[in-house]
Amino acid sequence: MEKKAFNIAIDGPAGAGKSTIAKMVAKKLGFIYVDTGAMYRAIALYFLREGVCPEEQETICQEVGKAAITIRYQDGAQQVILNGEDVSGQIRTEEVGNMASAISAYPPVRAHLLELQRGLAASQNVIMDGRDIGTCILPHADAKIFLTASAKVRALRRYKELTEKGITCDLEEITQDIIERDARDMNRETAPLKQAEDATLLDSSSMTIDQVVQAIVDEAVAHGLALPSEASGEECGWK
Ligand code: C5P
Repeated sequence: MEKKAFNIAIDGPAGAGKSTIAKMVAKKLGFIYVDTGAMYRAIALYFLREGVCPEEQETICQEVGKAAITIRYQDGAQQVILNGEDVSGQIRTEEVGNMASAISAYPPVRAHLLELQRGLAASQNVIMDGRDIGTCILPHADAKIFLTASAKVRALRRYKELTEKGITCDLEEITQDIIERDARDMNRETAPLKQAEDATLLDSSSMTIDQVVQAIVDEAVAHGLALPSEASGEECGWK
């Protein structure tokens, strides 16, 4: 009998370190990392390019089908393809992030990505991160993690990351932005950000990256994953 794919779901608020952690766990376990936020960002980029405002709900809901999203992997890294164009580099701005946060509340936008996300997890071992993976997309995921950290810690990490890139930014503004984004994600009607009942809560505020990675690997093992023989990792800082 064919072995079933093993799925790990990681949900949590903005800046909790989901993607940094998920990438490391994926590398350690030989899993595919699926970043669902990047898919929402690619749709956001499509509408920004079309000159559509986030408030234009009707237009967005009617036209979301015009933004064909696929993903592919190069050297293990996820690339997001929007209507045939690799937009992975262009979706990482605050403008795109804020647009993604707004349009992801619209049900047709979420429905547009549902099959793609489920399809990726059906046939291969994945660690998928987002806001509704454990609750809606993969309700039967083998292991579910709700990764969080205090707003202050998340803002500081983001501040450090931007400053290291030479980008001037304001800690107060970043904190405010994080609080607003959390509120939007948690209070929307469709697929709000919340911990699945069977998810394990990990608060990374005072944990190192390696501790969080290990906790997730342990969780996967506790749910039946057999570890690859050379499941080792390298240390790195929060991003
Ligand atoms: O995780 P990231 O910041 O890239 O996601 C961008 C936005 O997309 C989030 O603020 C959130 O509103 C939305 N999102 C979502 N559901 C997901 C992943 C992301 O609503 N599964």
